[in-house]
Formats: sequence, structure tokens, C-alpha cells
Amino acid sequence: MNIIILGPQGSGKGTQAKMLAEKFGLEYFEMGKILRDVAKENTHLGKLIHETINIKGLLVDNDTFREVFFKKLSETPEEKGILFEGVPRNEYQLEFFKEDSTEMNRKIDATIVINLPEKESIERLSKRRVCKENEHVLIIGKDIKGENEKCPKCGSEIHQRIDDTPARIKTRLGIYEKNTKPVIDYFRQKGILVEIDGRPSIEEVHQSILNKLKKLNE
Ligand SMILES: [Zn+2]
Repeated sequence: MNIIILGPQGSGKGTQAKMLAEKFGLEYFEMGKILRDVAKENTHLGKLIHETINIKGLLVDNDTFREVFFKKLSETPEEKGILFEGVPRNEYQLEFFKEDSTEMNRKIDATIVINLPEKESIERLSKRRVCKENEHVLIIGKDIKGENEKCPKCGSEIHQRIDDTPARIKTRLGIYEKNTKPVIDYFRQKGILVEIDGRPSIEEVHQSILNKLKKLNE
């Protein structure tokens, strides 16, 4: 089984993706994390990605993305299903996932989209921090009280990602809307799109994903 999960920033897609990957024994393929890991490497590619995402706060270009994506894909055993998070996020990346794509060679069984109103995305994301060592996601008011605490899970320093400031969030939400529309339309037309309301609690959203996946298989 191969599943794609999409959604705007702050929709909770990361949390849902982890829960699903665990439940179905899928390889968790998170492009954001994969790119951040490569950005730590002392290679030409690593430095390029570091500069793009950590310093400029931009998305990597298509060629770079493609290189990292297929390298990671080639490292995943063919018999193991994959849960793709945040990819394909535009028409260029969608080409990798189409059935005639010889590079991919995997059939997508379902594409889940978690919807969340913009106002709520911004509200959620401005409270999000991550720890420096392990990227544990911490929400102010829930996991930590304020900015100056250490990570309760590992004790390392916490910070706000450069792309989690309100201005950046707005820009990225706009890009998300525009770029993922053709992706969503494509999977809807294939009859494998699962649309989910991201506003309820984590457990409720998880349950509604499971219910809709089950229906899709009937
Ligand atoms: Zn931590």
C-alpha cells in the first residue's frame, strides 16, 4: 500500500502521517525532514539545500528536489509500502506519481487531503516550536509554557523554524493552495482522493481517515 498525505501547514498532516505509517507498517517519507537531513551533510548538495531552506527560507528548486527524492526512493525496499507526506506538492512533482512514470514504479492507493481554514493554520503554526537536536514538535500552551524552556522530551534548546513566522506562513499557504490544486484534481479524477476536515482533535481526524480509507477499499 502506498499513500499520499497532503494539507496546508498546521493541518496536522505530520502527526496523522506518523500514526498511519505506524498502523499500516509503511515507510514514512517526509520530504521536509529528508531535505533538512541532507542540508546537514557537508556536501555540495547539502550546502545548497542548507542555504535555500535554512538561510533564505525558500523551497528547493525542481532539479534538487528530484535528485533528493529519487535517491531516497531508491533506498526504500520495493516491497515496503510508503506514506508520502507533503509530496507531490505541485504539477512538476505530480509527474513522478503518474501511472506511466517509469521512475517511480509504485501504485498510489489513496491520496488524503487534510483541509484547514487559513486563519486556523496561522494560529496553530505561530505556536509551534521545534527542538534543535531532534526536531520534536512542541506547541506553546500545550507541550511547553513559553519560548525559553528546554525540550521536555530530550532537554535540547528550542527554536521557531524560519518558515513558521506569520508572514512566511501566509506566503506558503498561498503557494500551497495554488500549487496543489492540480495535484488534488488529478487524484480526485482517479477516484482515490480522501478529503478530511482537519479541525477536530487528532484522534477524531485519525478515525475519520481510517473510516474513509476503508470505504475507498469497499
Ligand atoms: Zn527534543
